[in-house]
Amino acid sequence: MDRALALLRDTFGYREFRHHQAEIVQTLVEGGDALVLMPTGGGKSLCYQIPAMVRPGCGIVVSPLIALMQDQVEALTQLGVRAAFLNSTLEWEAVRQIEQSLRQGELDLLYIAPERLLNERTLELLDNAPLALFAIDEAHCVSQWGHDFRPEYQQLKVLHERFPQVPRIALTATADERTRQEIVTQLDLHQARRFISSFDRPNIRYAIAEGHNAREQLWRFLQREHPEDAGIVYCLSRKKVEQTAEWLSRKGRTALPYHAGLSADLRAQHQQRFLREEGVIMVATIAFGMGIDKPDVRFVAHLNLPKSIEAYYQETGRAGRDGLPADAWMAYGLQDVILLRQMAEESGAGETHKRVTRQKLDAMLGLCEITGCRRQALLAYFGETLAEPCGNCDNCLQPPETREATEAAQKALSCAWRTGQRFGVNYLVDVLLGKEDERIRRFGHHQLPTYGIGRELNATEWRGLFRQLIARGYLEVDHEGHGALRLTEQCRALLRGEEKFELRRPRKPERSGRPGRSRPVIPEFDEQDSALFEALRKLRLELARAQGVPPYIIFNDATLKEMVVVQPRSLEEMREITGVGEQKLARYGRAFLDVIEEASSG
Ligand code: ADP
Ligand code: ZN
Repeated sequence: MDRALALLRDTFGYREFRHHQAEIVQTLVEGGDALVLMPTGGGKSLCYQIPAMVRPGCGIVVSPLIALMQDQVEALTQLGVRAAFLNSTLEWEAVRQIEQSLRQGELDLLYIAPERLLNERTLELLDNAPLALFAIDEAHCVSQWGHDFRPEYQQLKVLHERFPQVPRIALTATADERTRQEIVTQLDLHQARRFISSFDRPNIRYAIAEGHNAREQLWRFLQREHPEDAGIVYCLSRKKVEQTAEWLSRKGRTALPYHAGLSADLRAQHQQRFLREEGVIMVATIAFGMGIDKPDVRFVAHLNLPKSIEAYYQETGRAGRDGLPADAWMAYGLQDVILLRQMAEESGAGETHKRVTRQKLDAMLGLCEITGCRRQALLAYFGETLAEPCGNCDNCLQPPETREATEAAQKALSCAWRTGQRFGVNYLVDVLLGKEDERIRRFGHHQLPTYGIGRELNATEWRGLFRQLIARGYLEVDHEGHGALRLTEQCRALLRGEEKFELRRPRKPERSGRPGRSRPVIPEFDEQDSALFEALRKLRLELARAQGVPPYIIFNDATLKEMVVVQPRSLEEMREITGVGEQKLARYGRAFLDVIEEASSG
């Protein structure tokens, strides 16, 4: 462990291990297996990188994303670690050299995609090389239930059969119990020690907005909070991705689309720009994001409702890996609720699958509609208890107003009932408002007692009420009847007046004050600090450009922040900054010191 601690300090420039890192490292160094569940940004990589360096031989890292291996290896090379990757982008000669270094024990870490690793040829190569460990990153890819399922992951069991004496570590940021079980079974990790960290991401501020015109709401949010920051905007469909990216670009932001319908080249190009430039917004379907270890993603915005809390947690988790403040923002509407309900009904073949899909969606809707602390609810879903409300979500910061709306809910339900449960929301709203309409006349619904009894609310308010009735399970959407709404068993008590219905009021449009001025990345910085921070970022960008690497590979924002706070005056003092190891100190220390000095004398 002494050696591990020395590596942590000198090579990585960190003072101490955090979460379960120390125990995990020790387990592997001693030759044991480990299953690691840690949130994004928790520091999973160190858990296998350090043991791979301590143990004789090379650590083999299985990672599903070829496009990102290069950056991971680059980051290690910057630290002076002997790392390489094997994938289809390499020339034959480069492959031959890496294979030779591996056989001769000259590598600490080798990244390989699963399909390549499972090749008989690669396995034979490994037979003849000294191996320190196997790290299986993004281990939830073995799960058929998850959205990142990779069939090759299920064959990784072979590693244990073929190399029984080599310790293995499986890592994931996916928290649910089902996935956990599947990893253990599929990878034969029954003997592995389990390390489960808290899944809380305290630096992420959760906010979920409902109602109309999500795109305008997004724009206000971006202008107010993140006028210059990098972030991800998730949309459900390719078309919406394209439209949103175009719209943001027209408004003057650098926004790039990313979805499975784009050519591989273009996708790679957009991903590169997102990683290498500052302030790029990626507008994407869920196909984007896994394994993206860009630490300074300052916001993740959802323009549609995710299908499950697992997906929501994973996608929002890509914000703020560096531990600095970040936002998880979402806006959803009635159409999302109806569409996802329909998709759940039509999903897959089996009844079980449908039920699971439905339950997951209901849980997600529950999270959207609650009036209490979002973080408490989110963690509770993963079996964790947070004793106090968090103070860093929309509901904590600005408690939503509710009002009793039992009578309105009864009217809405009765309207659906009396029109024969054959109509969708818009029609029902028209009936409630007593609209002059040819269809209503044709069906004779203008003679119903519910016709025109709902004039106390406007159309938008009625749609909000219907959304909440659907979300809470009073109404169900008939997928064969084009979105027709049917009453569920649950309605009885409400209709009899034995149960109250509380309506969540739409939030007032957020104050649009101070357009163009952002909440600073580092809230506690004054103007002078911010100026120095910007100067350091500028230097970082120049250094990164010169080498063609992402800026955060030089130093991440958290390291720059500490430089601003501490203002080191010598290389000795610089060495004490978190994230400044020996190699980086030698390469960049002087340049950053100069900028700090200039700022303080100027
Ligand atoms: P994960 O893979 O779990 O998302 P990473 O391994 O990318 O997380 O680490 C997240 C961030 O935390 C990185 O910037 C990393 O350098 C930093 N980090 C990891 N371990 C430590 C530590 N012990 N002390 C300080 N920073 C750390
Ligand atoms: Zn809260």
